[in-house]
Amino acid sequence: VAGQGIPQNTPMLVAVRARPLSRDEAERGEFGIVRVLESRVVVVLDPQDYDRNLQPNRSKEKKYAFDYVFDEDASQAEIFSGTTRGLINGVLVGFNASVFAYGATGAGKTYTMLGALDSPGVMVLTLNDLYRRMRSDPQYADSDFKVRLSYLEIYNEVIKDLLNPTDSSIGLPLNEDPVRGMVVAGITEYDATSASEILQLLHHGNMARAQEPTAANRTSSRSHAILQVSVERSERTAHVVGQVTCGKLSLIDLAGSERASKTENTGLRLKEGANINRSLLALGNCINALADGRSHVPYRDSKMTRLLKDSLGGNCRTVMIANISPASTQFEETLNSLKYANRAKNL
Ligand code: ADP
Ligand code: MG
Repeated sequence: VAGQGIPQNTPMLVAVRARPLSRDEAERGEFGIVRVLESRVVVVLDPQDYDRNLQPNRSKEKKYAFDYVFDEDASQAEIFSGTTRGLINGVLVGFNASVFAYGATGAGKTYTMLGALDSPGVMVLTLNDLYRRMRSDPQYADSDFKVRLSYLEIYNEVIKDLLNPTDSSIGLPLNEDPVRGMVVAGITEYDATSASEILQLLHHGNMARAQEPTAANRTSSRSHAILQVSVERSERTAHVVGQVTCGKLSLIDLAGSERASKTENTGLRLKEGANINRSLLALGNCINALADGRSHVPYRDSKMTRLLKDSLGGNCRTVMIANISPASTQFEETLNSLKYANRAKNL
């Protein structure tokens, strides 16, 4: 049985995470313009409206409500519990789901998804929880599991294996399998069993991500990194051949959402910018089509939406984590990200 998605009332959970102001930002005289109310509402103050004493003009603030809003004090464990933990059981019994980290470069997407070695993010916490349940949840006492992990990058509309990086510019092809759904042909499928092994593996894979200096940000990440966890479960029964289910969880650290126009580059860089917009644009268009209940969802418009065709929409549960910077200089990017997330909320 191929994964089909988890029936639920709200297919899309939308969360916002505001990171702390960094020491560098504070030293440059930047200040925080983001406030969080009741873990549900985010308020953004226009830095232009602050008076000489840095007191904001409250009448001009912008307010948005989401399923969860995490402030700078939220721990990695709280982010995981509030966004992704609820998807794991469904994946173990054969449903598909996806979790996206959206936001401008520097807003905290990679910190949220991958995390640091001493503060692992959603990807690692998810795998820990998944393995723990398979081993010790009484619900699965009669189940055998096979887990396959793959970690890939979409850069310039080309799929690259982050667990076995090569210089090939052609990339790996995408196929549709009747049982497993969309699969990347030839990708490394790893059966990791320990948390520390996974952490090393992902950090190692992340170092292979394309990172090119650009005018907008020297460390801007123009690639989408996707961890896919496929879980095959078979029931151990005394006399009959048990049911086999396949579930898949996709955890996605998206490319920076900042406008390509800020990257005043030409040639190759511009082409890349256009392609990155293609996958991000296509994702936005698919989410909008799903939110509007349209029958045609343009999955075919980009590599990423084709890959995630079986994990987005239908009965698949989707989590969007919009990462925002609190810094006064990021006002426009922060509003853009909140508007994008607000649109997803209607799904
Ligand atoms: P992105 O992947 O969106 O470009 P990063 O995840 O690399 O952004 O975050 C930018 C910087 O901010 C990094 O140095 C990261 O360690 C730091 N950072 C991001 N989120 C947090 C957080 N919640 N707490 C502490 N530091 C953070
Ligand atoms: Mg990043």
